[in-house]
Amino acid sequence: MAKMAIYPGTFDPMTRGHEDVVHRAAATFENVLVAVAGSTGKNTVFNLERRVELASEVLADLPNVTVVPFNGLLNRFAASQGDCVLVRGLRAIGDFEYEVQLANLNRRMKPAVETIFVAASQKYQFLSSSMVREIASLDGDVSDFVHPVVNQALLSVYNTGK
Ligand code: ADP
Repeated sequence: MAKMAIYPGTFDPMTRGHEDVVHRAAATFENVLVAVAGSTGKNTVFNLERRVELASEVLADLPNVTVVPFNGLLNRFAASQGDCVLVRGLRAIGDFEYEVQLANLNRRMKPAVETIFVAASQKYQFLSSSMVREIASLDGDVSDFVHPVVNQALLSVYNTGK
């Protein structure tokens, strides 16, 4: 029986929606490993070290949650952690196809690692890191969508010199 959940993602940056998923996972499993992906194929605003740093600060109050970076294939990383399940968040229908495809691919490569889904809170259904980045880049206020340390980090990326 898995006592640990791995919540993988890009977290560029961590949003209140991600936090909500972590809180739910932390209430369900003994330990939660938030695994921040280095090799995402995405052009990230924050580098891996900074994404790990921000997520760690945001989640510092949760004693059974640890934030770690990982590179390479997720299922290989998960298998190296022993008995665990993967946790992913589901927002609208749009997430469904991609997430189920990903879960099936991971299952095919490592049948022992199960993926479970956490339904996003109603109030975070619409929230994504890309939306937060876009609003912040246009000088919009994202303080309702991210933790204050993330808000500060976004301000220093996009509003330098103002
Ligand atoms: P990835 O690049 O792996 O999709 P993300 O950081 O964008 O990484 O997302 C990580 C996980 O968190 C995904 O399963 C995504 O569906 C989920 N997620 C993102 N935003 C929310 C949200 N607002 N509510 C619930 N889950 C979310």
